Amino acid sequence: MNSSTDNVMLAADRCGVLAIDLGALGENYRRLAKNVAPAALAAVVKADAYGLGAVQVSQRLYQEGCRTFFVAHFIEAVQLRPSLPQDAAIYVLNGLQPGNEERAAAIGVVPLLNSIGQIKAWSQTAGRVGRTLEAALQVDSGMSRLGLSPDEVCELLVNPGLISNIEVTTLVSHLACADEPANPASARQLAAFRAISTAFPTLPVSLANSGGIFLGGEFHGSLARPGIALYGGAPVSDRDNPMLPVVRLEVPVIQTRTVPPGTQIGYGGTFTAKTSIRLATIAAGYADGLPRSLSGRGALYFEGQRLPIAGRVSMDSITVDISALAEGALDLGTPVEVVGKHQTLEMMAADADTISYEILTRLGHRYQRRYI
Ligand SMILES: *Cc1c(COP(=O)(O)O)cnc(C)c1O
Repeated sequence: MNSSTDNVMLAADRCGVLAIDLGALGENYRRLAKNVAPAALAAVVKADAYGLGAVQVSQRLYQEGCRTFFVAHFIEAVQLRPSLPQDAAIYVLNGLQPGNEERAAAIGVVPLLNSIGQIKAWSQTAGRVGRTLEAALQVDSGMSRLGLSPDEVCELLVNPGLISNIEVTTLVSHLACADEPANPASARQLAAFRAISTAFPTLPVSLANSGGIFLGGEFHGSLARPGIALYGGAPVSDRDNPMLPVVRLEVPVIQTRTVPPGTQIGYGGTFTAKTSIRLATIAAGYADGLPRSLSGRGALYFEGQRLPIAGRVSMDSITVDISALAEGALDLGTPVEVVGKHQTLEMMAADADTISYEILTRLGHRYQRRYI
């Protein structure tokens, strides 16, 4: 190993270790696959598999039998395509932007068609390349984000020639409130989706994300598309999380000190010690994806002991109150738990006033990543 690599490893070490448990990921895939059977289980690996590494995650899930992968942007599909065998389908949820069609066709990436314009462009591309091209058709069943509107579905039905040259593999729609089982919006969306799908009686259907899987069998369709649940996030709010944790994040202590009463801590001096307290500064901050909104409210953990964040989260560090620990319990370099056995993604997200998805997808690139 040359010295420049050494330096990179050392620097990364100091900023913490992000451990990604591919065994737990595999187990989560198997659990969800069993839950939705006989429907098939896809994997949503957009945003670099929610920050965990799209290539590593997708290859592991391929081993588990996953053959359908969803990314958000075409560029993500371009990057992932060489890492998966050709019998794995890669779908682009956001569809293709004009100009990307021929490249998508050439490398075997499958778009979701979200508008009549996208249908026309893909159909023309099929004409140009001289063969039928696959696509999924996305319809809006009540989220008003992506997919054909009811009017566009009608336009397509009266003019089926629009979709000639295209082999539609799946009819897709997406749920807006699947993580809230008591929310009646999901049943309304299911009814709307079913009504649309009667116009395409031969097409396999896909509606459920992670939350949708736990709404019950009628939501499973032919293909479920979980993301967060695969990565250990809770698919349903206000309920025990049935998934295994996949991510552990530990960040080392880089300095400790004892401060007298009245001492201000951190930017803005927003925290003042009421008594003499002991502090530890750890080597990651908002530039590493630890939200600044944790300032003065979140906590880290050491051997199960909660260590409240004292003052503001800085760009590259966080200061925590370690007075509850025995003197000397934390040495320089001692790893402190950010996410792990004592702090779930959901706990941290609640303190930061966000959701587990945002915590995961923003995990920084200065951590040393360890795949287990
Ligand atoms: C992100 C996304 C998913 C996965 O959602 P999770 O809640 O993470 O399971 C599924 N379908 C679509 C269309 C998405 O955008």
